[in-house]
Amino acid sequence: MTGGRALTVALALALSAAAPVAGAGARLAVVATSTDLQSLAEAVGGDRVAVESLAAPLQDPHAVEVKPGQLARLKSAALLVRVGLDHEPWLRRALASLGDAAPAPGGPRDLDLSRSVALLQTETPRLRADAAPHQHGLGNPHYWLDPENARPMTAAIVGALARLAPAERGRFEDNRRRFLARLDAGLGRWRTALAPHRGARLVTMHDSWPYFAARFGLSIVATVEPTPGVPPSPAALGALTGRMRASGVRLLVAEPYADPALVRGIAAKTGARVVPLVPSVGGAPEAADYLALFDLDVARLARALTEP
Ligand SMILES: [Zn+2]
Repeated sequence: MTGGRALTVALALALSAAAPVAGAGARLAVVATSTDLQSLAEAVGGDRVAVESLAAPLQDPHAVEVKPGQLARLKSAALLVRVGLDHEPWLRRALASLGDAAPAPGGPRDLDLSRSVALLQTETPRLRADAAPHQHGLGNPHYWLDPENARPMTAAIVGALARLAPAERGRFEDNRRRFLARLDAGLGRWRTALAPHRGARLVTMHDSWPYFAARFGLSIVATVEPTPGVPPSPAALGALTGRMRASGVRLLVAEPYADPALVRGIAAKTGARVVPLVPSVGGAPEAADYLALFDLDVARLARALTEP
């Protein structure tokens, strides 16, 4: 090896150690705040990324305890992918504990996907001092539940990963194209399954489903939580069940972390059928990835709307 060649190799090694760029065979370490974003990052990154989710799939996504091992991975992550808005009130604390080593908000290691989609409920006046920290105060943050939003979300992920590993841009774009082809096939299936139920009226526990409902023509007539994260008062609950009975709402959508006694109580008072929908990948064994999540939720909903 000549001196010049040795120097070039040494320089390249030094550069690859300093910058969070994937070398040959190395994977970009990505931390996502939810399993849904993890699934989308894996779809785009393929074998060039190793993605971990901070929130477990059955956990209330707004109340997460970040474990010490996760903090260490967050500190060294090449990229943090998050929902943004006020969806992860626990994340600010975790990042603050890492100081300058953490991916800085708005920096090259931070990807806030709320900036890539059109948000719903941005005009809702919900900034109340007495309410829970996650109150949808900046718009509804459950936007990943419109599968069409996976288009801009994965585009943003391609951009962020390609900035970290420019040589892999073509691979990320190919992965995204393959994912979008499967997404389009899924959208065809889901629209067909829910088409007979356009306009069906639902009540949901938490306000997790406005994007999903808008995409598939369903109507959410009320949420049980008067403010996101706040259980209803007995008076509000009484008014809600009265309205449900009077207007004949047949379905109550419950997340896995909804209070089961509250869900049972409303169902008993109104005769509504409870549909347990899964808001995140991994929330049920069948919801193994982002597309399977919609296969499961659409099937559960279509079944509940079809049964007499
Ligand atoms: Zn929420």
